[in-house]
Amino acid sequence: MFGLVRKLNRLRGFAGAGCVALLLAGCASGASNQRGMVQVKLPFPSELSLCPNMRVSNAPAADGYRKIDPYRKLVALSKRVVVATAPVEAGCLSSGVGMRSGRLHKGYDIFHPVPVNIYAAGEGKILEVSYRNDYGNMVLIDHRDGFFTRYAHLETINPDIKVGQKVAIGHPLGLMGNSGDGSLARHLHVEYLHGNYNTRKMSFGLKPLDIYNLQSLPAF
Ligand SMILES: [Zn+2]
Repeated sequence: MFGLVRKLNRLRGFAGAGCVALLLAGCASGASNQRGMVQVKLPFPSELSLCPNMRVSNAPAADGYRKIDPYRKLVALSKRVVVATAPVEAGCLSSGVGMRSGRLHKGYDIFHPVPVNIYAAGEGKILEVSYRNDYGNMVLIDHRDGFFTRYAHLETINPDIKVGQKVAIGHPLGLMGNSGDGSLARHLHVEYLHGNYNTRKMSFGLKPLDIYNLQSLPAF
């Protein structure tokens, strides 16, 4: 991870090639090179578009073909926390972070008509696995340094996703769904959160981050 992080110190957000060099042999799926670095193929989309024929609230900048531009597959949140901006197998962005219908929408909605895989956006530890009426089947990951990600409305959560389990970036969490009372179309609601988890409000006291707006992120 350290080589990657050194690189990210110089360049906070980057588009990311098909493979990222990691030192995490445990999650390797490719061959090592002579320096001991392991090429890991990350499963995240190489581009992301705003959903066609939808009004996308708080949409990130996009080109004339509705492709998010610039699209950064990975963003560094701290010197050792790197997260994917679209932790899904496939989909299009149907909502961004910001005020929506008079309420703060704390995450991104990524829509896809069939149940594709949802992945851990970054390396971390599973902190919560639960069902809530509002979020449906939900997973919360602690990435360290006060950064967390929440994944909501999953159809199913994979049986190995248990509280305390460590996951690598790209580890499958479950399938995209529409569980929970308020979710109509199948989509992932994913939140990038920062702050102190150890308060009475727990994850609901954390501050949502707009990771498509690098200027809004905490400095490091
Ligand atoms: Zn949402």
